[in-house]
Amino acid sequence: MYSDVKLFINGEWTTGSSGKSEPIVNPATGQVLARLAHAGTADLDEALHAADKGFKVWRKVSGFERSKLLRKAGDIIRSRADEIAALMTQEQGKPLAEAKMETMLAGDIMDWFAEESRRTYGRIVPARADGVMQLVVKEPVGPVAAFTPWNFPINQAVRKVSAALAAGCSVILKGPEETPASVAALVKAYADAGLPAGVLNLVFGVPSEISEYLIPSPVIRKITFTGSTPVGKKLAALAGQHMKRITMELGGHAPAIVFGDADVDTAVKQLAASKFRNAGQVCIAPTRFLVHESVYERFTDGFVKAAQAIKVGDGMNADSRMGALANSRRIEAMQMFVDDAVGKGAKLLTGGKRIGTTGNFFEPTVLGHVPAGARIMSEEPFGPIAPIVSFSSFDEVVAEANRLPFGLASYAYTRSSKTVQAIGAAIESGMVTINHVGFALPELPFGGMKDSGYGSEGGTEAIEAYLNTKLITQLGVE
Ligand code: NAD
Repeated sequence: MYSDVKLFINGEWTTGSSGKSEPIVNPATGQVLARLAHAGTADLDEALHAADKGFKVWRKVSGFERSKLLRKAGDIIRSRADEIAALMTQEQGKPLAEAKMETMLAGDIMDWFAEESRRTYGRIVPARADGVMQLVVKEPVGPVAAFTPWNFPINQAVRKVSAALAAGCSVILKGPEETPASVAALVKAYADAGLPAGVLNLVFGVPSEISEYLIPSPVIRKITFTGSTPVGKKLAALAGQHMKRITMELGGHAPAIVFGDADVDTAVKQLAASKFRNAGQVCIAPTRFLVHESVYERFTDGFVKAAQAIKVGDGMNADSRMGALANSRRIEAMQMFVDDAVGKGAKLLTGGKRIGTTGNFFEPTVLGHVPAGARIMSEEPFGPIAPIVSFSSFDEVVAEANRLPFGLASYAYTRSSKTVQAIGAAIESGMVTINHVGFALPELPFGGMKDSGYGSEGGTEAIEAYLNTKLITQLGVE
């Protein structure tokens, strides 16, 4: 049952002191599901106080004990996956099966970081002088302010929260206002596992007001944000003014390269599934389809058929394969991208418009021969549109793949092992997947370069983002 969503501050669920709230809307029906409480300044002060106090408690808990509690939270979320998936689908739009997969993966991520919390090793560096011991020690960085978006409401939050908690940090999480119930369910799993009060706090409200209040606070020692590049740059600048450490997971514009010797059927199947998952609202989604001229027609025909086969509908219906877009801003953006590309000479091969007038449904769309000047070739569509263009040489496709300031994910298909190695080395992006789709597992680094941000949200690198390195050099005296 979907009900009103509250703030979680110092171990208590509260509607806050501001008296303000906003409606939570089902993007598939347009109906108001419930209301979301907003945090005012007094609530943020209380959250800061709680996080400060919580950090002092949590940092003293051993990695061994933290690990047990975090694993328990993972078990709890898995046991509630059906119930949480239904909340997520109602507020976000994605099909139930995708929502359940996301929730189960959250349990996996929690397990991974629970294990990492026992491995925050330092090291001993051999000294030059007799009797000197040089210790490199890892310490939690301190209270964290985390800002997460609506496309993967649990996944985006759990990557930050579980790494921070594993490191011994406390957290104030500003969750996504569009999709708050799933995030609240994540926080509840930690609370029910026995996390001490104040260690994890959840707030919602006006995003800019909250970030501008929390980032400068002397309590907060680390900022982590997932969202668009323009907002990321603003928050990074503010964090810089206050010398706060940051992790930024921002927008992408992933090239998906299909060479002339590729297994075209596999490329079509895997890239179409990746493109239309979560209605394309995925930062690592394949975005610019760059296909060798010798297989362009075959790839495009197959891709159009795959797009047309997708059953679009309310994510709560078992047969829906693509749900509504999360908000009406995305529908407006999709129409703009299609009209702009077609106006500049692209061929509309399928889709291209909103479906019906209720809910934010948009047709799976494929555009062929898209000119370089079309906006979709440079701006992140974040929706179910695939622009396809052809290329003739390796150097040409590398130049196009690296043309944009983004560098998050990239995809390539080829049967040549020489090209596998060459393309892996040539592409400027934080993640490259070749001949299969293999991103986003908890044990793998996840992050970008260039305007896609910096820092990693997976692998052994992820917990480092929440640790300070301290040198203690000591000389034993009697
Ligand atoms: P947006 O930039 O307004 O918001 C993105 C997220 O950032 C939201 O969760 C929002 O609440 C938050 N946000 C916005 N302003 C903020 C501020 N001043 N302080 C703190 N948080 C703030 O964009 P949108 O319309 O919600 O989404 C569209 C674009 O966002 C997409 O085109 C895509 O590029 C990007 N996006 C990226 C991801 C990702 O996974 N990297 C996820 C969601 C959205």
